[in-house]
Amino acid sequence: MTKDIPVVGRLAPSPTGLLHLGNAWAFLLAWLACRAQKGRLILRIEDIDPQRSRPEFVSAILDDLRWLGLDWDEGPDRGGAHGPYVQSKRLAEYALALDRLAQLGYLYPCFCTRKELKSLANAPHLEDTGPVYPGTCRNLSDELRRKRIAQGQRYTLRLACPEMAVDFDDAICGPQHLQPCDWGGDFALRRSDGVVSYQLAVALDDAAMGVTQVVRGRDILFSTPKQILLLRLLGKSVPAQYAHIPLLLNAEGERLAKRHQSLTLAALRTRGVRPERLIGFLSSLAGLNPGAQAIKPLELVPAFSFSKLPQVDVCLPDTMLYSF
Ligand code: GLU
Repeated sequence: MTKDIPVVGRLAPSPTGLLHLGNAWAFLLAWLACRAQKGRLILRIEDIDPQRSRPEFVSAILDDLRWLGLDWDEGPDRGGAHGPYVQSKRLAEYALALDRLAQLGYLYPCFCTRKELKSLANAPHLEDTGPVYPGTCRNLSDELRRKRIAQGQRYTLRLACPEMAVDFDDAICGPQHLQPCDWGGDFALRRSDGVVSYQLAVALDDAAMGVTQVVRGRDILFSTPKQILLLRLLGKSVPAQYAHIPLLLNAEGERLAKRHQSLTLAALRTRGVRPERLIGFLSSLAGLNPGAQAIKPLELVPAFSFSKLPQVDVCLPDTMLYSF
């Protein structure tokens, strides 16, 4: 990454549950990547899913991040020049972008009912990827569209993806050259009940907040071309660096997720686990602390490099997972 561009990173938790070990891993690495480049960090709360987001998780997440020893320069608790830092307060911006995409001719109403649309406000993790959208509603006549809308049929708004590849150079996964068929084809930007998609909200916020560095789980890699495409169509700046980190998996090869209750940071804290010990454990898995000694995030900054991270997902045997 060019040395003269100031780095702006972000931590983007969704308040849909308490933070767990997998989140701690991802946020630690995103924090280190940014601080190692003397970057500024933004904390953004991604709460556009009204069914799953709960306000009480916001303060719990902030407490957990602080407990881990992670800090940020702008966020809902600190303010800053790019607020609001809570997505549910940025809905007007998303609506404007949808209008712009419609004016440019990239949006069409889609009357297909698909199960996956329910979760469109959430980042699609691996288990959520579905088949390529076959384009059923893309070429309906205007007359038919008007008729169906007048009949009261519900519709989502979908982006008509231009037939072009999106290229980016991932700091961990290397050069990517992805076509619409790789990311599922035309994708939904707004649900029939008005809820906007994760893809739209994240892309717009990264641009509006001046984010230059996006560090997140490897399972979200296929969202990146969608977000870059949206930003290009809207003439907005694209983050200069993407890094999709390996995932932490349990012994069955499942991504650590919110359903593994005993691994919430709150549960570990209640059991008396010290944050330095947890950071020591996570940083050893990341190749940054071979002896796994207890350590604070700040002490790891000089050691950080993307090249030290494992190239494949990290599978944790139960003995290790429940060793705390
Ligand atoms: N809020 C998203 C999640 O928790 C973050 C995805 C991203 O970093 O773009 O999965």
